[in-house]
Amino acid sequence: MKRRFKVVFNREKCKGCELCINFCPQHILALDPEVNQRGYHPAGMTDQEKCIGCASCAVMCPDYCISIYELEEGESWQES
Ligand code: SF4
Ligand code: SF4
Repeated sequence: MKRRFKVVFNREKCKGCELCINFCPQHILALDPEVNQRGYHPAGMTDQEKCIGCASCAVMCPDYCISIYELEEGESWQES
């Protein structure tokens, strides 16, 4: 069974510095075209299926905006 991960961003805390995007080995993070309440384009996920749970994004974020969860078998990304 392939391990699956959910990456959750604190959209309002993100300042769009792109560090997480640049350090993701899977190249699955990108800035959202919509701005948050502080006027920044926040980072987000483009292809959750490809995440390997390496946590590089969370480690690199200077503002602790990113949390990573491993999903249980059968659990969907929306449920958790
Ligand atoms: S956990 Fe790793 S693979 Fe998943 S989004 Fe973060 S840097 Fe990319
Ligand atoms: S590293 Fe943190 S603050 Fe910078 S874009 Fe990513 S989530 Fe936002």
